Amino acid sequence: MPRVLLVEDEPGLVMTLTDRLAAEGYDVVSATDGDTGLQRACSEVFDVVLLDGMLPGRDGFDVCRTLRQRNVVTPILMLTARGQVVDRVVGLKLGADDYLVKPFEMTELLARVEALLRRVPPVPAQAEAYQFGDVHIDFRKAEVRRLGQLIDVSAREFKLLKYFIEHRGATLSRDELLNQVWGYHAMPSTRTVDVHIAWLRQKLELNPRRPEHIHTIHGLGYKFSG
Ligand code: CA
Repeated sequence: MPRVLLVEDEPGLVMTLTDRLAAEGYDVVSATDGDTGLQRACSEVFDVVLLDGMLPGRDGFDVCRTLRQRNVVTPILMLTARGQVVDRVVGLKLGADDYLVKPFEMTELLARVEALLRRVPPVPAQAEAYQFGDVHIDFRKAEVRRLGQLIDVSAREFKLLKYFIEHRGATLSRDELLNQVWGYHAMPSTRTVDVHIAWLRQKLELNPRRPEHIHTIHGLGYKFSG
């Protein structure tokens, strides 16, 4: 169930949006001022943030900028008042992913939210760390920890895992993985890929037989989610 943080101070809109999003299968949490919204967005995991521009206390644009400064990458859909053209531009420059002008059709809002959920946020090129499930990866030290315990991964496994993370959500063929992780001039068979993936699953998945992160896409290859 995708989690939505709704930061909005108009009680009628909070109620309407909460009801409709809940009916569509979303878990909705709301905050009615900027500081509370910021605090929740920083301390909990959400799939998308719906952020009103004008809020009591800290306004939505400030919340947006602060979230990005704190490296919170959750997709943000700004809700702005009609005619706030400047605000729209500013909103996107501050790191919002999309905006919607009030009043908006509910179907339009749902479509935008779905689009944001489908979009895989890019891992910043200079990302120093990445976390999924119990696993924490430090790219600079080339270290992988699971539940705090250092996991022994080979350089090739680390490269494979990094490639998966950088392309999470995409189906990757064995040929692509061979070319990108082993190199075009390497001559291992695609079976080599399967073997390395089996090793990674053994090390990182709770149940390697039922992987939750490195999925087999039959006939096509593999897909990472996390
Ligand atoms: Ca408002």
